[in-house]
Amino acid sequence: MVDTGQHEGLIDGLGRRIDYVRMSVTDRCDFRCVYCMAEDMTFLPRQQVLSLEEIERLAALFVSQGVKKIRLTGGEPLVRRGIVGLCERIAALPGLRELVMTSNGSQLVKLAQPLADAGVKRLNISLDSLDADKFRAITRTGDLYQVLAGIDAAVSAGFQRIKLNVVVMKGRNDQEVPALVDYALARGLDISFIEEMPLGQVGRSRGEAFCSSDEVRALISQSHQLIDSTESSGGPARYVRVEGFPQSRIGFISPHSHNFCSTCNRVRMTAEGRLLLCLGQENSIDMRALLRRHPTTDAPLLAALQKALQGKPAHHDFSSDGDVQILRFMNASGG
Ligand code: SAM
Ligand code: SF4
Repeated sequence: MVDTGQHEGLIDGLGRRIDYVRMSVTDRCDFRCVYCMAEDMTFLPRQQVLSLEEIERLAALFVSQGVKKIRLTGGEPLVRRGIVGLCERIAALPGLRELVMTSNGSQLVKLAQPLADAGVKRLNISLDSLDADKFRAITRTGDLYQVLAGIDAAVSAGFQRIKLNVVVMKGRNDQEVPALVDYALARGLDISFIEEMPLGQVGRSRGEAFCSSDEVRALISQSHQLIDSTESSGGPARYVRVEGFPQSRIGFISPHSHNFCSTCNRVRMTAEGRLLLCLGQENSIDMRALLRRHPTTDAPLLAALQKALQGKPAHHDFSSDGDVQILRFMNASGG
């Protein structure tokens, strides 16, 4: 591998500095969440998925270009064999400020401590319900108690921060918002509520279940006094604090109701090595082909990356009528 040196960094055509990359390490998952996947999914053949070495090479390339934060995601990153070793190698890249991960929590009882020891700094864990039957209905295959035990294991493992992610859907889990907030506050965890995005045809109309961040906020305000905060994690979430619970933050991720594109600092790598310039647009480039065509020199990869960034879209264009605009499923996008 040729050292490409430290350049000016990755700046897109609109002057936005890209210092955050989300990398999907697999499109596979042990859950089939209703908002993310169809019940019957066909996953990629293994040879089409980037190898661990290819993921590591891309991570090193990004970090050499000034990327400070990498999030490993999926699919479910913890179903990928060799994930802990990959984390250890990426976390050790000089210049990377933090390696973080998004997980559904199902494997954390056994993997939380190894991940923390490998250098993963923060975890986002999805938790859409505290009712075992509803949890099963939303995830189709998930076991709530396994995930709750996984969250306990993560709390004990000593991550810098743990954040719960909740996709809120009317009639499915909107009534559970207050209980989920109390669960997070009792443990000093952060919690973010996400508006469902129209990614992939999941076999139901999304519009009917759409629940806006403003509605979620109103539900929480019934039992807690919320304090607006100007904090930002460099991402799309807007945060509030809760009177009496200084440790936790509540985030609202609102791709529909609050457009956050002008400060977008991120790109995504899919499990098959497509660089997605915007979650809400189809623009992408095939980094896997470049990786395999140029096994020993990074210069062509870097040139393609720089060129592609010039075409990073100004903004996404989700509407809340539930129409699918993007045919990719979220698990293929590096959520
Ligand atoms: N399997 C891991 C998990 O569930 O946390 C990581 C991958 S998942 C695709 C990443 C995040 O995307 C999760 O928090 C999930 O809730 C969210 N997500 C998936 N599909 C979504 C959709 N259509 N709209 C909004 N968020 C979605
Ligand atoms: Fe799997 Fe995460 Fe998608 Fe649920 S949201 S199906 S856990 S990848």
